[in-house]
Amino acid sequence: MLDIKITRTSNPQKKPDSKNLGFGRYFTDHMFVMDYTDGRGWHDARIVPYSNMSFDPATMVFHYAQESFEGLKAYHADDGRILLFRPEKNAERLNRTHDRLCMPELPVEDFIQAVKAVVSVDRDWIPTEPGTSLYIRPFAIATDIAIGVHPSHTYKFIIILSPVGAYYPEGMNPVKIYVEDEYVRAVKGGTGFAKCGGNYAASVKSQDKANAKGYTQVLWLDGVHRKYIEEVGTMNVFFKINGEVLTAPIEGSILPGVTRDSCIQLLKKWGVPVSERRFTIDELMEAARAGKLEEAFGSGTAAVISPIGELNFEGEIATINGFKIGELTQKLYDTLTAIQWGKAKDDLGWTTEI
Ligand SMILES: *Cc1c(COP(=O)(O)O)cnc(C)c1O
Repeated sequence: MLDIKITRTSNPQKKPDSKNLGFGRYFTDHMFVMDYTDGRGWHDARIVPYSNMSFDPATMVFHYAQESFEGLKAYHADDGRILLFRPEKNAERLNRTHDRLCMPELPVEDFIQAVKAVVSVDRDWIPTEPGTSLYIRPFAIATDIAIGVHPSHTYKFIIILSPVGAYYPEGMNPVKIYVEDEYVRAVKGGTGFAKCGGNYAASVKSQDKANAKGYTQVLWLDGVHRKYIEEVGTMNVFFKINGEVLTAPIEGSILPGVTRDSCIQLLKKWGVPVSERRFTIDELMEAARAGKLEEAFGSGTAAVISPIGELNFEGEIATINGFKIGELTQKLYDTLTAIQWGKAKDDLGWTTEI
C-alpha cells in the first residue's frame, strides 16, 4: 500500500466543452508523482496540482530516452459508476517495459492504487457524453543528472489525466493503411514489445510519409525478413481471411495490446477461429486478390477497434469489404465498448470499479 499525500489545487480550471474534447489536448487539475532512488525504492507518493516540472538540462531521459509509458481509460457508466478496464494488464506490461529498459519495477497493486487515487481526486473531470472517457497516461522517466550512458539511479513515475472525446463522433469509419516497406519499427531483441517513447521516435518519419500519401497509419512488416505482418502505428492488427481471424504472435517485436488480448478472448468465446501466427504481406495481398480477405481492423485503447478499408502495398491497392465495416469488426467494437462503459454484463471480470 502506498501512503499517498494529497495536495488539492486552490485554483481549479474551467472544464473544456465535453462535446469538443479531441484526444490528449486537455489535462485535469491534478497529477500523481512518485520518486525512486536506488537503495531506497519508490517513495514520496503524492497527488499534487497539475503543473510544469523543472529539470536540469543534463537529466538522463532527455539524452538516452530511458522512458516508459502506459495508456488506459476511466469510463463513466450511466449508473454513475467509474470503471477501469483490466488495469492490472497495464501494470504488468509496465513492469515488462521496465525490465527491458533497466528501470525499477512497480508493484501491480501500487500502480492500480495510484491510478484509482488520482482518478478519484479528478473524478469530476470524467466526461459523461456518450463515447467520451478520461484517458490515463502513466509514465516513468530517468532523472539522474549525468550524460554518461548507464541506467539511471533515480526515476520519477507520473500519472496525468486527459478527458478525451468520442473517437468516432460521426460513427466508426474505415481507415486507409500504407504498408511500410522502407523503414522498420522493431526487431526481436530490441524494444518492440516495450511501451516506450523511443519506439515512437523511430516511427514518426514513416507515419509522416504515409500521411503525406493520404494514409492514416502504417502497417509494419518484420524488420528481418521484411515480409511478416507485425502491427499498425499505435494498434495491433487483425485480418479475417476465409473465415479465420489472424494476428501476429507475441514474439518480442510487437506490442502486446490489452485490446488485442481482449479481442482474442472474445473471438474464442464466440467460437470464431482465431490464430496468433506469422503470415506474410504476400499471403495477405493474395487473399485480397482472391476475394478471401473479408475484414481487417486495428485494436488499441484509444480507438478500441479501427476498421481498415484499404491497404496500399508497393502501389497495389487492396480494398477490404467494399470499404465497409465488417460484421465481426462491428461486433467486437460493440461488445468491448459495452463492457467498458458498464452497459453489458462483465462476465469475464474485466472491469474494476473506482
Ligand atoms: C499501446 C500500443 C498498442 C495497443 O495496446 P492497448 O493495450 O490495446 O492499448 C499497440 N501497439 C503499440 C505500438 C502501442 O504502443
